[in-house]
Amino acid sequence: MNALIAQSQIATQPEPSAAVAQFLKRAPRLFIGGEWVEAKSKERISVVDPATGREIASVVDASAADVDRAVAAARAAFDKGPWRDMLPSDRQALLWKLSDLIEKHTDELAELESINNGKTKFMATVVDVAGTRDYFRYMAGWATKLEGSTFETSIHGPPGMKFQTYTAREPVGVVAQIVPWNFPLAMAAWKLGPALATGCVCILKPAEQTPLTALRLAELVAEAGFPPGVVNVLTGLGETTGAALVAHPGVDKVAFTGSTSVGKLINKSATDTLKRVSLELGGKSPVIVLPDADINTVIGGAANAIFFNAGQVCCAGTRLFAHKKVFDQVVDGVSAAAASIRLGPGLDPKTVMGPLVSREQQERVLGYIESGRKEGAQVMTGGEAPASPGFYVKPTVLANVRPEMKVVREEIFGPVLVAQRFDDSDDIAALANDTPFGLGASIWSNDLRAVQRLVPKIRAGTVWVNCHNFVDPNMPFGGFKQSGFGREHGRAVLDLYTELKSVCMAY
Ligand code: ADP
Repeated sequence: MNALIAQSQIATQPEPSAAVAQFLKRAPRLFIGGEWVEAKSKERISVVDPATGREIASVVDASAADVDRAVAAARAAFDKGPWRDMLPSDRQALLWKLSDLIEKHTDELAELESINNGKTKFMATVVDVAGTRDYFRYMAGWATKLEGSTFETSIHGPPGMKFQTYTAREPVGVVAQIVPWNFPLAMAAWKLGPALATGCVCILKPAEQTPLTALRLAELVAEAGFPPGVVNVLTGLGETTGAALVAHPGVDKVAFTGSTSVGKLINKSATDTLKRVSLELGGKSPVIVLPDADINTVIGGAANAIFFNAGQVCCAGTRLFAHKKVFDQVVDGVSAAAASIRLGPGLDPKTVMGPLVSREQQERVLGYIESGRKEGAQVMTGGEAPASPGFYVKPTVLANVRPEMKVVREEIFGPVLVAQRFDDSDDIAALANDTPFGLGASIWSNDLRAVQRLVPKIRAGTVWVNCHNFVDPNMPFGGFKQSGFGREHGRAVLDLYTELKSVCMAY
């Protein structure tokens, strides 16, 4: 009976627009050296709409031979030009042109993202595509603002010899960029933007589940007029295409966003060739509610912190710590907010939360909920999948959890909040830091003194106060501990894509 009621609540996915339907029919190809080329690999990957479970397209699983070809094209573009010799203002103009094209095709890109990832078209429009457009515009500006410094030295040269010394930033070279499926287009932008601004060339590998917007982006890269080989896009599995890219001696740097387990594999493999590596990995971010916090702000904020993008966010606020004075009110409020979220397919304008990205992810998340239940957690709301061929999981709140439970320790990457109560504000930093991760955290309070004292104690790359999950191209983003290393965005990202060269001139 419940299953029947649940089934009737999930709407049917509307038909895609003509432009998207046309795009989905394109033959599987790779974007190498500025052209759409036939792959050497005969393997194909099925691309599925998570709202229906049905195949909507198929793409190439690029082989090591395809990777060789892309690396050769990228190397030629970097080593022989014209990219490196181009005026910074011309690189800036190209990046800006790309962002204009993204803006022009907002609707189509948002729809593609929605039917491939599951998120709503509304969210894809206002978060993913708008964020991607803005990201390229922001990064375009850095192309013309790279600088080095001159400095004094005390070199004991031959009598009379003087020295002029300065530093210059030079692009690191050919960069393999491996991105995940939660924000496919935006993650591509976070990688391509700074690399192109600094004069690197790129081989982008989207996640096997969500390759569509990266392929459409490659078409826009060609339309914008980037020289051949500066941006290459290879679709494929992590263990084939991704691993071949990481091991390839022609690649100078790997930039990766994804799970901590794969990040560790990548770091090990890249050691053989001593590639530069930057890693933005998993998280288990705490949401800390101090006793004075404004309850209504907290309820909305904590619900957003975990349920935004169906919890498939590396810095999602997954562990709620609320002071005993407000714990029941906060948990009841967040549970009620969760229960009111309307699940449905991404193209339905009434949908608030779409399905998870894949059957595998749905099963993984349900497995975590089950393990929490078995270990004694109390399911306050959700805790199951509605009957549907789509990969839905109801927004879930688990209370009565203990620090050693799997649901508290491991990254779930789904709409599941674990709530813990604390008695003494002096202990909260230790509780919040009791995790191998350190990506984000939020503190909810209007007590300025308490907040200022707590911020330095939290071991995380970003600490939000009275908000969560907000990012900006100018605000560094990255992890402490096993959430990775390197900072994306802002001036900090320049360090990830440039080598510092010292020049010492005797006269
Ligand atoms: P998730 O577990 O959330 O799917 P992953 O870390 O597995 O995230 O995937 C993120 C990206 O890493 C994807 O593009 C995936 O193809 C890639 N990837 C997975 N395994 C490897 C690997 N062994 N080497 C390189 N890339 C990989």
